[in-house]
Amino acid sequence: MVKIGLQVKANLENIESLKPQEESFKWYMKFACNNCGEVSSKWNYIMLEDEKPAQRGSGVTHYVTKCKLCARENSLTILPDTISEIKADTCDQFKTIVVFDCRGLEPKDFSAREGWIASVDGGTTFNNVDLSEGDWADYCDKTKQPVSISCIEHNFVRVK
Ligand SMILES: [Zn+2]
Repeated sequence: MVKIGLQVKANLENIESLKPQEESFKWYMKFACNNCGEVSSKWNYIMLEDEKPAQRGSGVTHYVTKCKLCARENSLTILPDTISEIKADTCDQFKTIVVFDCRGLEPKDFSAREGWIASVDGGTTFNNVDLSEGDWADYCDKTKQPVSISCIEHNFVRVK
């Protein structure tokens, strides 16, 4: 088992914090099979509420896939306690927002898409921010300020 953390950074304008909706957030990723090196060409999503019994042991897993090339069954589990937010004061540095327990595969690419929660300090909480286009802009009626998220970037790291 290998633990892989997904790190994100972004420019937050008048946004205090940005985080994924926990249970229903769809983590869109592309994977590589560790056995044969095949990288999936299409996007697959993984969701915390999409629980399946693990192949071995008594735990749960969130994604099971069979490699198209070598037919090995690989799986991935979201570690729910690792889901976290990025904050305005450190948003220019990569921060781990989720860790995946990977069995036989590794994420190679991530697509941010929908389901982000953006909070304005003393203002509105936007509950379904869509970052599919790479950026997002709105207006906070409470603080009377424009808000935006741009330049979202990601990175994968091995976690011990
Ligand atoms: Zn394979």
